[in-house]
Amino acid sequence: MKTKMIKTLIMVLSMRIVNNIKTLYAMIVMLGAVGCAPQTEFEVATWHGFKQCAISYTMEDSYDNQFTTALPIFYEHDYPCTFFVTTRWCDRTKWDALRVATTERGCEVGSHTVDHAVYDTLSKERQKQDILDANARINVKLPMYKCNTFAYTDCVVGDTSIISKHYFAARGCHGYVERATPNDYLNISSIMCGSNEAVRTLDDFIYAFNTARSSGGWCIFSLYDLDDGKGYSPLSSTVLSESLDYLKQQEKSNSFWVTTFKNAAKYSKERDRAKIEFPKEEIKKDGMSKVKDNDRLIISLEDGLDDDIYDYPLTLRCPLPFGWKDVEVLQNEVVIKSEIKTINGCKYIIFDAVPNGNKKIYLINLG
Ligand SMILES: [Zn+2]
Repeated sequence: MKTKMIKTLIMVLSMRIVNNIKTLYAMIVMLGAVGCAPQTEFEVATWHGFKQCAISYTMEDSYDNQFTTALPIFYEHDYPCTFFVTTRWCDRTKWDALRVATTERGCEVGSHTVDHAVYDTLSKERQKQDILDANARINVKLPMYKCNTFAYTDCVVGDTSIISKHYFAARGCHGYVERATPNDYLNISSIMCGSNEAVRTLDDFIYAFNTARSSGGWCIFSLYDLDDGKGYSPLSSTVLSESLDYLKQQEKSNSFWVTTFKNAAKYSKERDRAKIEFPKEEIKKDGMSKVKDNDRLIISLEDGLDDDIYDYPLTLRCPLPFGWKDVEVLQNEVVIKSEIKTINGCKYIIFDAVPNGNKKIYLINLG
């Protein structure tokens, strides 16, 4: 009986949203299966690691204090941040800092134009040229880095037909916590910070965090100058540091995913389009052919998006199949990190996988 358990596979896909968790139901007829839930019901987490909401800190205008004051604070807390750079305002020291931040610290560099031109004052042709010039500059200075996000200057949305050709996501500033699925990826809301804006104290930050947590959304902060800087709307570096302390203290609650703008944008789009399938025929690869059918589960995870851009791993979980004790998860024949966690009395396998239908995922029973 058990040996036939996983042998008979029928797969059906449907989707629904429960408590902000997009659930992909893939049902298998399993003979003799018992357990907490259908054993091959895969859920894609709304946010990475099944955290309740996403938080992104973005900085624009390339003020000196962002490099000398803010960046060390992000490093100290081991959180990444996003720099929307105005390329002509970056000197050599700043580019050097950005190189380290992107290669070693998971930070992001997006474009914020060449010299802060406001796009509604530019013709379509000049907007296009400005985008090309800014990207070319970033590419020369950070040759290993692909810039594909943008922040509008003065919150003025440019010509989105041009923007969308060069960037997969762009930040605006509506001033509210964005939904888990933004209405418009080319005008994603952010909340402006500092002395001229609404969010300037630790309490203001905590209020925004809690709003994000209760809505399951995505809170993006826009930061400008800091402390006694002469630039726009300086934020106290003490407040910045305390806001990150708060997020650190909350890590155990699994509430906040602190990540860059681009990673959250990728995750959101991938999650909404993710489909799980159970391939009927699988070419038996070396090693895999030795595994019995009821000791493995093969799935493919596909989002239909461009794999060159959308490469961020999604977090998935499914109940531990009947009779399994320990598990190894592989994608594209490489072992990926997984864990078994008990949730409401049921054991789940939790793992991160990149949505790419060609890179099959194997869940193997280690007995
Ligand atoms: Zn700006």
